[in-house]
Amino acid sequence: MPTDEPVLRVLCVDDNHDIADTLGVLLDLAGFEARVCYDGLSALVAAEEFRPDAAILDLMMPGMDGVELGRRLRARPWAGGLPLVAVTALGDEDARRRTAEAGFDLHLTKPVEPDRLANVLADLVIMRGDSAERPLPGRAAEALGRPGGPSRLG
Ligand SMILES: [Mg+2]
Repeated sequence: MPTDEPVLRVLCVDDNHDIADTLGVLLDLAGFEARVCYDGLSALVAAEEFRPDAAILDLMMPGMDGVELGRRLRARPWAGGLPLVAVTALGDEDARRRTAEAGFDLHLTKPVEPDRLANVLADLVIMRGDSAERPLPGRAAEALGRPGGPSRLG
C-alpha cells in the first residue's frame, strides 16, 4: 500500500459518543483520516494540531453548539475555506438558515448514509481552491466506486 498518498483529514464532532465514534470508523474505512471529538472546545484544540481538510459537526451539543464551533473553526487563519458539513437531527428552516448564515457548505439530517457523506466530503474538499493536488485517496475512490478527481456534488 502506498504511503505517500495524501490522506484527507476529517474532524468529526458529536456529543453522542456512539455517533461520533461510528462516523470516525466509517470515514477511516473509506480512506479518510478521521479525528473524533465530543465537544466544541476539544475540537478547537484538536483542530490546531490536526489541521482538518473538512469538518462534520453536530449542531445540538452542550456548551458550544455546532454553529458556534463552525464559526470559530473558520476564524482560524488556516481554516478560512474549511468545508463544513452539519449532520444533525435538526432539519427545520430555522436550523438550515443558521447553518447557511454561519457559512456551512451542507446541512444533512440524521441518519446520513455513510457513502453519501464520504462522497460529499470528497467533493467539498476537491472543490477547494488549493485541492487540485489532493485527489480523492485511492481507498476512498475505491470505496465510492469511482476514480479520483473533480466531480460535482450529487
Ligand atoms: Mg448532539
